[in-house]
Amino acid sequence: MEQLLAGKNALVTGGTRGIGRAIVLTLAKAGANVVTCYRSEGEAVESLARELKDTPGQHHLVRADVGDAEQIDQLLAECKVRLGGLDVVVNNAGVISHIGYDDLSLADWHAVVDTNLTGTFLVIQKALPLMGEGASVVNIGSRVAKVGIPMRAHYTAAKAGLVGLTRSLCKELGRRGIRVNLVEPGVIATEEMARLTPEQRAAMEARYAQLTSLGRLGDPDEVAEVVLFLASDKSRYVSGAQIPVDGGI
Ligand code: NDP
Repeated sequence: MEQLLAGKNALVTGGTRGIGRAIVLTLAKAGANVVTCYRSEGEAVESLARELKDTPGQHHLVRADVGDAEQIDQLLAECKVRLGGLDVVVNNAGVISHIGYDDLSLADWHAVVDTNLTGTFLVIQKALPLMGEGASVVNIGSRVAKVGIPMRAHYTAAKAGLVGLTRSLCKELGRRGIRVNLVEPGVIATEEMARLTPEQRAAMEARYAQLTSLGRLGDPDEVAEVVLFLASDKSRYVSGAQIPVDGGI
């Protein structure tokens, strides 16, 4: 792979599974030193650590919940000690739940909004002292922010909030030479799909064959490649962009 990020330092939140894992590995293989965070210890963490061992550069896995301001402070302190500064910040950590609006409690709301939106606000704010001219922030939103979806008003509101955050920060940070962009995945086949029965998976694949122009679900690597472009100098005149990676839904 072309070393688009040779010698650069990156923070990727929520990097142990799914799209985040693909982003961590793609940035590391492109030459970046990567710090990533997660909430739960387990096989996903160990598996990523094993894979990163064979990738040049220094990579660190830190247990930190981006829904908790103090843990974000510890995460950024770790970035400073381990890497010095940050050239790339990818806000990928996200959680979702499926709850009808009548039953959506304030606790359910916070569980989703605190990670997806407030976590992104805080990570960027606390990372800024480590970022200089030429740095790139990539937020991971969702295409549902545009269209809405039942049972996920809290998730959709948080992802729509990332649109405003990205656009305003693009304007506010642009004069410091910091770019801020948003990637909006459609439906991406992560490890979560392995939990589906073969019938459920077949039904989902058939549905997205109909819904997308490309006739299939997406792959985490296909999101990671777009993040790599936005993280690298190849996109040095791109800021405030909202890029769908959804197979043309
Ligand atoms: P997964 O559930 O597969 O993985 C989420 C990752 O984020 C895990 O490593 C998880 O670690 C970590 N994480 C979750 N919450 C926190 C937190 N509060 N603090 C730190 N780490 C956290 O998610 P996906 O790969 O499916 O999604 C990644 C991003 O892409 C999310 O922002 C999601 O909203 C977005 N997206 C995904 C789509 C899809 O189809 N998959 C579609 C559109 C958008 P741990 O296991 O330890 O909690």
